[in-house]
This record gives sequence, structure tokens and C-alpha cells, in this order.
Amino acid sequence: MNAVVLLGPPGAGKGTVAEVLVDKGYRHVSTGDLLREQIRLQTKLGLEAKKLMDQGQFVPDEVVVGMIRSLMESSDMSAKFLFDGFPRTQIQAEKLDELLQSFSGKIDDVVLLECPDEVIVERLSGRRTCTKCGAVYHIKYNPAERRDGCDMDGCELMQRPDDNEATIKNRLHVYAEQTAPLISYYTEQGLIHPVDATMSIGEVRSAVLEKLG
Ligand SMILES: [Zn+2]
Repeated sequence: MNAVVLLGPPGAGKGTVAEVLVDKGYRHVSTGDLLREQIRLQTKLGLEAKKLMDQGQFVPDEVVVGMIRSLMESSDMSAKFLFDGFPRTQIQAEKLDELLQSFSGKIDDVVLLECPDEVIVERLSGRRTCTKCGAVYHIKYNPAERRDGCDMDGCELMQRPDDNEATIKNRLHVYAEQTAPLISYYTEQGLIHPVDATMSIGEVRSAVLEKLG
């Protein structure tokens, strides 16, 4: 049971990297999706998590780690996971190592998407979404051809509330603070593969394939 951990700020193109790894047989595991699944199934973990989230509290490490454990228990030993959004803290990273070891597995690689803050801010703050069909544009890199709305249906384009510059900067700040200890933790183990996320989607794909061979 092996795993790749994907680290990168919001807007760095983690979806592109995930696609490459899913093609290579990794199962994409997002803790947000796992949490929603546990809540839907009304498991003990799900009910506990929902209670905390309803109170506006963070879901503690034990709950997140518990979900990963039950995922591993229900998977076969040859499973390969791509963790996205987990671990978020060094404690979670240590727990993940312990869990994998208990299934005779390990982390093969950690992909670190690197992108300067100003590039992320430009990418996310220029994003516009169609209010009807959800099509995504970018005012500079992928503008709608018609000036007054969505190319598909002509409906109004809007900026998502969390794509404004102040919110993005705050998310990047939280990301940097959370991730710094993880980067040192995995660098010490020689697992980190930095990928320049300012490159095009095609170039990011090739870089990931090359590094993870
Ligand atoms: Zn539309």
C-alpha cells in the first residue's frame, strides 16, 4: 500500500497533477470528499465530524486519521493512494507514516507545487464563473469571447466570493504557515519533488511524469 502526497497552494493546479497520477493507477483521496461520504453514510466518525462542523469547529486529527484508517482497511494491499489536502500538519504526517507502515506501505513521493503568491492571486482573482452553467473563464488567460456574458448561454459571469484578493492572500498565508513544517519533514526524508507550477498544464504534466517516472 503506497502513497503520494500532493502539496500546493490553492490555485496552483493540483487537479492537473491528480489527473496524471490517477492515470498511473493512484486513487485520488480528498479528505473533504471522505468527510462528506462519512456524513452521508451517518457513520460514527461522520456524525462526530458533522457535530463539530455544525458548531463551526475544525475536525480534529483523530477524526481525519480515523477516516484514512478505515479507507485503508477497506482497500486491498496493492492500493496506491494520492493524498490531496492531507496531511495538513506534522502530527498528521507522522500518523500517516504509522498507518502506512501498519499495512507494510510507505510514501513513495511528495509532489510540491511551487507558485509565487502574485501568480496565484492573478490566477484566482481573474477567475469568472457563469451564474447559470458554471463555465469558468479568466479575464486575461481565458476570457469569454462575447463581452457581455458566458459564451455558452450569454448569462452573467461573476467572481466567486472566496476569489477576492484579500481572501486569497489569507488562504495563501494559512497554507504557507501550515505547510512549512511538512516541507521540512518530507525534505529530511528525501521525498520532496518540487514542480514549478507557473508552467503550462502540459509542462506540469510532463514534469510530474518525469519526476515520478
Ligand atoms: Zn454559462
